[in-house]
Amino acid sequence: MEKRDYYEVLGVAKNASADEIKKAYRQKAIQYHPDRNPGDKEAEEKFKEAAEAYDVLSNDEKRARYDRFGHAGMSGAAGGGAGGFGGGMSMEDIFSQFGDLFGGHFSGFGGFSGFGNAGGGRRVVQRGSDLRVKVKLTLKEIATGVEKKIKVKKYVPCTHCHGSGAEDEKAVEKCPTCHGSGYVTRVANSIFGQMQTQSACPTCGGSGETITRKCAECNGEGVVRAEEVITLHIPAGVSEGMQLSMEGKGNAARRGGINGDLLILVEEERHPELLRDENDLIYNLLLSFPQAALGASVEIPTVDGRVKVKIEPGTQSGKVLRLRNKGLPSVNSYGTGDLLINIKVYVPEKLTAEERKKIESLVASANFTPDASARERAFRSLRDFED
Ligand SMILES: [Zn+2]
Ligand SMILES: [Zn+2]
Repeated sequence: MEKRDYYEVLGVAKNASADEIKKAYRQKAIQYHPDRNPGDKEAEEKFKEAAEAYDVLSNDEKRARYDRFGHAGMSGAAGGGAGGFGGGMSMEDIFSQFGDLFGGHFSGFGGFSGFGNAGGGRRVVQRGSDLRVKVKLTLKEIATGVEKKIKVKKYVPCTHCHGSGAEDEKAVEKCPTCHGSGYVTRVANSIFGQMQTQSACPTCGGSGETITRKCAECNGEGVVRAEEVITLHIPAGVSEGMQLSMEGKGNAARRGGINGDLLILVEEERHPELLRDENDLIYNLLLSFPQAALGASVEIPTVDGRVKVKIEPGTQSGKVLRLRNKGLPSVNSYGTGDLLINIKVYVPEKLTAEERKKIESLVASANFTPDASARERAFRSLRDFED
């Protein structure tokens, strides 16, 4: 069959804008949507033809190649091969790539997704539900990323009937309600006027089959409860509230179908000494007055053990030291945060009579009055950042 010109297929001009192309495609997709034209082969071809035209014309690079070489440019030989258009798109491709452009108006399949292809017929494929788990991580685990093995209780396909729910092959019959198609058609009013909508067959749940003798192991469900150990690969840099997902690791669907996903909610265990500020870590260090005045070597906690940090003589309260790259890695792997050490100088809250006397004698013999430059710095509330 000779391929029609893509612009002609969508009914748009050669210089149509991206918006016009999108609009035209949406119209065609709705007009030839299989839900409106059940069992109509010609409509299905038109539906596919429009999707193919849209796939090319909505992509600047493919469209430019098509404008220069026509359909010959789409075979993949010309123009470097990438993005070439081979044997047309399958229904799955179309729904997964463009479904959101027109899918909202076809609600008959709520709760189901996907289309079986066998024999040109279309059956509803069930999807298992998603499984949610929480995983609590220490800052150390977040710093490096971690593998965690967790045990989950979930539905898995029954091994006795291989998920079919039938005791054996002879125990399966074509569904009498939908005659094996998996869906029932009804007429409904919609914004497009009266149209036929389809929904999953209530008798067989969309499988197109009914079972005369149920599998004894799973009582015809096709799934059984089981415990499974799953290894989670947690990347470095995740944070509280983030959700990761593992495709297909959720519950199996009843009587075959697609597995749900495993959704992993990240929780962060509080570190006893370190606070987190995105990728930076913060440590509040209290120095005694002698340490601040004379200088000292102090131990600072980091996510991988304690490190010694030198405090210069005359260190002021409010000074911030920055240990570069001692924070957490970014989850997008762009760099690593720092560890910030906020210094506060501790003043004794209670003094004995003897301590009081000693400090008073010190005051008489030493100068503790802030000088002009110290007053200037305090006035401007400058924070000194030091490497
Ligand atoms: Zn079974
Ligand atoms: Zn049925």
